[in-house]
Amino acid sequence: ARRVRRSIASPLSSLETAASAFGSDELSHRITVTGDDELARVSRAFNGMADKLQESRRALQDQALHDPLTGLPNRRLFMERMEHAIARSNRTGTPFSVLYLDLDGFKAVNDTMGHEAGDELLVDVAERLQASLRTVDTAARLGGDEFAVLLEEADMDGATHAAERLSRIFATSWAIAAAEVPIAFSIGVATRQNGEMLDQLLRQADAAMYAAKSSGPGQWQVFRPGLDADVLETASLRHELGVAVDRDEFLVHYQPVVNLQTNAIEGVEALVRWDHPKRGVLPPSEFLDEAEKSGHILRIDRWVLDETCRQVRAWQVTHPAAVDLFACVNLSARQLQHPGLAEDVVEALSASGLRPKDLVLEITETALVRDTETAASELRRLADLGVKLALDDFGTGYSSLTHLLTFPIEIIKIDRSFVSAIGDGPRSKVSHALVNLAKTLGLRTVAEGIEREDQLDYLRDLDCELGQGYLFAKPVAPLELERLFDSFSQVPTQPLAA
Ligand code: C2E
Ligand code: CA
Ligand code: CA
Repeated sequence: ARRVRRSIASPLSSLETAASAFGSDELSHRITVTGDDELARVSRAFNGMADKLQESRRALQDQALHDPLTGLPNRRLFMERMEHAIARSNRTGTPFSVLYLDLDGFKAVNDTMGHEAGDELLVDVAERLQASLRTVDTAARLGGDEFAVLLEEADMDGATHAAERLSRIFATSWAIAAAEVPIAFSIGVATRQNGEMLDQLLRQADAAMYAAKSSGPGQWQVFRPGLDADVLETASLRHELGVAVDRDEFLVHYQPVVNLQTNAIEGVEALVRWDHPKRGVLPPSEFLDEAEKSGHILRIDRWVLDETCRQVRAWQVTHPAAVDLFACVNLSARQLQHPGLAEDVVEALSASGLRPKDLVLEITETALVRDTETAASELRRLADLGVKLALDDFGTGYSSLTHLLTFPIEIIKIDRSFVSAIGDGPRSKVSHALVNLAKTLGLRTVAEGIEREDQLDYLRDLDCELGQGYLFAKPVAPLELERLFDSFSQVPTQPLAA
């Protein structure tokens, strides 16, 4: 009986030890089993249970650190690896780099081809990304269509090479759901070389990525000091532009277009201003580029068109000097590509009561060359309505003559650079040639940017019909322009004071 007790006692105590080990989370503990009695079988079953527990524990841990769709490390694991890299670089003094990658065109795939196609694309991208890195580097999916790469021991040079290589590899069209879709990566690069902290590095890579993205698809950009401030500024400008139309923050200033022979104000050019809540009244140079890039220009120009038609019609009705006043409105390149343009113009005219013949739309040659087909058909429709088209900044674009013959243009505006060259020897002759060209083609001419009497005299002698410039008046608020109408009707033969 004693021997029996001893032979049971030892396996029982091993089982007890194992149970308490598993209970306190030591899943690697195993019971040493000999023989094949019942206790041995129970002990083996215990070991088997521990194997299973350990396996599912590992799977859970893995899930917490990997992206289930692509299998790449997730944000958490990426941060852990970054912490390690920082510790190592503190020890060894060697730099390392981070890339932030954001897919261009992913949203379009998701929206037009469905989420399954989107997922398929992400999996492909993850595979290709992983395959194009060294084994020591970590590629991770941070979420959505955002990826990151940790380049161990890569300095700025190494990192830019990697960025260049990756952007080349990924800038191809991808076969997704039996279609070819154009995809590219916008890449931001940040290198740890001055003991930057984790957060700081990530912010830098992110800012560089945004800067890359705003310069077009498939670009990469290295972080430099000041870049985050620029990116923030652009982002907030873009956001503010988006709400400015709804908040009624835009203004139109008007610059008189004067008949150079009679000094009568024949028309006005509408020039937009942004009454920014914090920065005050801003000229177009401060915001039009961004508005054009982000597309907000469409709503701004639409508003300017409506407001100008309304204001000019009101002047025609109330001011004897303005009965036949015409309104010049600038069109952006984007508007010319916008198939609803003619519709917008019809609505603006009918809402205001302005006659089509009193509306002049100003377009630049640079805008015309973008997509001649759409532009030509919209412009043809406008001309059929009786609206007039002017070619703005004439002489500064290219293939000017072709445009004059292809599009239904009635007015050319001679660019300020040629007017300011008047009195400057042979350069004076350009405005001379342009005025004559317009005459030959039967077009009306506006000389822009007349600032001095000698320029006015020269243009008058050339028989240039119309002019604008600080010599007559700067662009002014509507109330001030009304005062100009009044001063005009009193002294009709003198140039107007600014
Ligand atoms: P632009 O169409 O060539 O307009 C003429 C610009 O020259 C205006 O600048 C005007 O203030 C300026 N100017 C007029 N006379 C003189 C002069 O004697 N001397 C000098 N130095 N400048 C003179 P602004 O108002 O800053 O507008 C700049 C540009 O912004 C415009 O050039 C036009 O391309 C664009 N823009 C203005 N308003 C709009 C708009 O509502 N929509 C669109 N799409 N573009 C606009
Ligand atoms: Ca203009
Ligand atoms: Ca111009």
